[in-house]
Amino acid sequence: MKALVYHGPGQKVWEEVPNPQIQQPTDAIVRMDTTTICGSDLHILKGDTPEVIDGRVLGHEGIGTIVSVGSAVHNFREGDRVLISCISACGRCEYCRKGMYGQCLNGGGWILGHLIDGTQAEYVRIPFADNSLYRVPEQLSNEQVLFLSDILPTGYEVGVLKGVVQPGQSIAVIGAGPVGLAAILTAQLYSPMRIIALDMIDARLEKARVFGATDAINNGQVDAVEAVRTLTDGLGVDVAIEAVGIPATFELTASLVRPGGRIANIGVHGKPVTLHLEQLWIRDVTITTGLVDTFTIPTLLRMVESGRLPAEKLATHRFALDQMMEAYDTFLNASQTNALKVVLNRA
Ligand code: NAD
Ligand code: ZN
Repeated sequence: MKALVYHGPGQKVWEEVPNPQIQQPTDAIVRMDTTTICGSDLHILKGDTPEVIDGRVLGHEGIGTIVSVGSAVHNFREGDRVLISCISACGRCEYCRKGMYGQCLNGGGWILGHLIDGTQAEYVRIPFADNSLYRVPEQLSNEQVLFLSDILPTGYEVGVLKGVVQPGQSIAVIGAGPVGLAAILTAQLYSPMRIIALDMIDARLEKARVFGATDAINNGQVDAVEAVRTLTDGLGVDVAIEAVGIPATFELTASLVRPGGRIANIGVHGKPVTLHLEQLWIRDVTITTGLVDTFTIPTLLRMVESGRLPAEKLATHRFALDQMMEAYDTFLNASQTNALKVVLNRA
């Protein structure tokens, strides 16, 4: 089969590799029908993720059709159309029993396209298939549910739920990339009064408004702290969600929150960040962090089914699976192409 193979920092090739085989009775083999590329794949290609070895097939998102299952798989059979979670879950360890699949103790967590071969391929092996796949409702298209593999649960779980967004509140989302936009989309399920988007790229801020932000601030052009105070009776926001992952944006996020408010960090930080505890302690601020668990996929599937979550709006460019290299170029050059999420479909 063909797959997108990582060959060290900056090196990737769409090339022939052996087809995956069932290795454990709990495995399933899935033919990939639709997949996508994530910011995390770009991090791997930059060399930020040294645990990814030369020869690894990338990708941790997508929808496919089951072609075979191991003898211990009970929930799925050949022919089922399934959504693949970016997080694999043994389902039995202490953390999985609490829905914290990202922290799985038996070799699950974020492994796809990271520690084992992933979904940017014609076929993929899914470990712990019973707990790591979700049946796709018949009436929904692949594109409608594709982003439930990773970014929608990420924005929802690590941003909106950990931030405890409540009706009538003011929210700020720092970074209007796919993950920030997913937080903006799902925050609206809780009827906040204001959702303020911050980014340095105007095209991203326009997208944020389309996705439901009530206000947009270009923090490269104006004093964002001042602008947010003006919109929030001088207090700052109830919940500030960090969706970039650099020290400057974490500090900005922390400076936007009102006394008693919450900072929900989604961004993946590669460098130490300054925490101004000397300013925050007296203001009763709560800070949360997290790796997505994807425990909300069933809820999000129902929200898509009911028409309340237009997740497919994140798709901006479409390719055939074997146009993987072009798709990467488009996604990599998002500032020129205005790409949010690229969709790759089996021909
Ligand atoms: P992205 O790079 O596509 O988007 C980031 C956005 O931030 C862009 O629109 C960019 O213009 C904006 N930005 C950059 N610098 C800025 C600044 N100084 N001020 C304001 N805006 C700025 O990334 P994404 O795919 O949307 O992901 C966002 C973050 O979420 C990344 O750090 C990613 O690794 C992380 N992530 C976390 C989890 C998790 O489980 N916690 C899961 C997936 C992704
Ligand atoms: Zn991802």
